[in-house]
Amino acid sequence: MHKIDIELVEMTMDVMKYTIDRISSTNPKIGKPKKAEELKALVGETITKEGIGGEVAFKKWRKHLMKTNVPIDHPRHLAFVPAAPTRAAIMFDLVTSASSIHGAYWMEGAGGIFCENEAMKWIVSLTGLPKGAFGVFTSGGTAANLSAIVTAREHWRENDDFKGEKGLIITSIGAHSSIKAMAKVADVDILLVDTEDVMHGSELQKAINSLTEHQRKRLFAVVGTGGTTNAGIIDDLEGIASICEKENLWFHVDAAYGGGALAADSVRQLFNGIERADSITVDPHKWMFSPYDCGAVIYKNPELAKNAHSQQGSYLDIFKDDGAHGFNPTDYQIQLTRRVRGLPLWFSLATHGTDRYKEAVERGIELAQIAGRMIKENPNVELVREPSLSCVLYRRLGWKPEDYTHWTYENHKKGFALVTPTKWKKGDTFETVSRFCFINPDTTEKDIKLILDSMV
Ligand SMILES: *Cc1c(COP(=O)(O)O)cnc(C)c1O
Repeated sequence: MHKIDIELVEMTMDVMKYTIDRISSTNPKIGKPKKAEELKALVGETITKEGIGGEVAFKKWRKHLMKTNVPIDHPRHLAFVPAAPTRAAIMFDLVTSASSIHGAYWMEGAGGIFCENEAMKWIVSLTGLPKGAFGVFTSGGTAANLSAIVTAREHWRENDDFKGEKGLIITSIGAHSSIKAMAKVADVDILLVDTEDVMHGSELQKAINSLTEHQRKRLFAVVGTGGTTNAGIIDDLEGIASICEKENLWFHVDAAYGGGALAADSVRQLFNGIERADSITVDPHKWMFSPYDCGAVIYKNPELAKNAHSQQGSYLDIFKDDGAHGFNPTDYQIQLTRRVRGLPLWFSLATHGTDRYKEAVERGIELAQIAGRMIKENPNVELVREPSLSCVLYRRLGWKPEDYTHWTYENHKKGFALVTPTKWKKGDTFETVSRFCFINPDTTEKDIKLILDSMV
């Protein structure tokens, strides 16, 4: 064997060994960030004219750099929306990379896109959207929300009455920050219904009635949330759908976090009305156990997305040629060149079956219920509200905001847990409280107890 080949094989074995170690460990160390200068001092120059060699670079990664990342799949990482990609999905993420597939057009990525579409059919079936509805995988919920908002706006502006008007959308303050950020990207104004709890149809109607005539003309879409990131709250999707139908507005449901719970029989009815949406965002990298990054946007009428997003270019025409008949994911969202990022999910679903997904999501919901009971029994803490989906908001009696911050940093420093404070709106004030978000089925009751016991 040629020398370079032996090196390549050895390096591949090293990488495989690292990967096997990492994915077979359910209790990775919670890493601690370091300042860039500190890291530079530890690893020195890594990009040089001659190269430092894979072996040395990989060693620096293992010894210093990896340790400053916080693995999101640690069972006591209950901050933000954590993740817990399946081993099958991680393995196929490697295969996805090794296969070098351009996932924009069927002509180049038929097999990969076929697999993505099989996985997508399952997600679409969970929503109950009518026949013809379909979606594509995106880099995440942010890109999915942007793709949906732009589709809605372009469709609205097809009407000559609205050409040249700046659009307006309505959502609630419980909506994810990306809705506001993406409205900015799309140059669309946003009106927030003042509730962090369930946005009901009646509140939406009131907000619409309060608009000036010109604002009403500019209003083209409503965003409901299918599981708020902060508290797991699902808006009154049925009520919102009825108003959107009556008022002729695009209805987008952001279920980036909560979408996984569409598979859970115990809470599925909370999402009733989602089947009347025009578009839906779901993040498989949150509660569908996919590695980063993998979001999804689904449309009731995908043709409208195609009208908005299909890119034109003389060098692109070939992909639309008769010889390349098939589904072109690039046509339905903002990105051209794309990883077939739904492929790891497909392999994991094919490996485990959808029942296992159902069980794993139900476990997250169950953990939130268990945590709720433990909080009720613990005299130091108190629920802010009943757990919703897999989110639990609770307060440590007598603590000020800085006590929560200090506690979070201490737990992190010790490598024990990552649980971060959040704010909950009560009347006109925001209270700092503690929050759990469960995703990882490997989290145990003992983990929850240890965390609550540390709040002394
Ligand atoms: C996380 C989240 C998003 C943003 O998704 P990214 O994948 O982080 O881009 C949008 N909406 C909701 C409700 C979310 O929870």
